[in-house]
Amino acid sequence: MQTFPEDHSQARPETRPEVRGLDLDPQTRCRHYHSALDIIAIKMNCCGVYYACKDCHVELADHEISVWPRAQWNSKALLCGACGNELTINEYLQSESRCPACSAGFNPGCRNHHHFYFEPDTP
Ligand SMILES: [Zn+2]
Ligand SMILES: [Zn+2]
Ligand SMILES: [Zn+2]
Repeated sequence: MQTFPEDHSQARPETRPEVRGLDLDPQTRCRHYHSALDIIAIKMNCCGVYYACKDCHVELADHEISVWPRAQWNSKALLCGACGNELTINEYLQSESRCPACSAGFNPGCRNHHHFYFEPDTP
């Protein structure tokens, strides 16, 4: 008799947005970032499309990334590759590297890359 793992996620997979990237796996890891924790996809402000990372955007899109201005940080722009939950930028920045929906761990090292995606602090 076959058993299937229980699905604890509340997200419906058919509602997942498209994610683009090189060598994408089902949890949105890509050729550049593929550790166990690299499961976040980011919607690019420039084109409104989810990419696995900025390097995938560089290789696949024909334009420069534009960062999310702070005024738009309440937009859903992060996708948890584990459960398909979409987070706003504010939710993501306050998530302490854990998905609020399924509590999958995110890569804390992504913090070092925030300035590629989100408007940096202005002193
Ligand atoms: Zn773009
Ligand atoms: Zn990539
Ligand atoms: Zn999740």
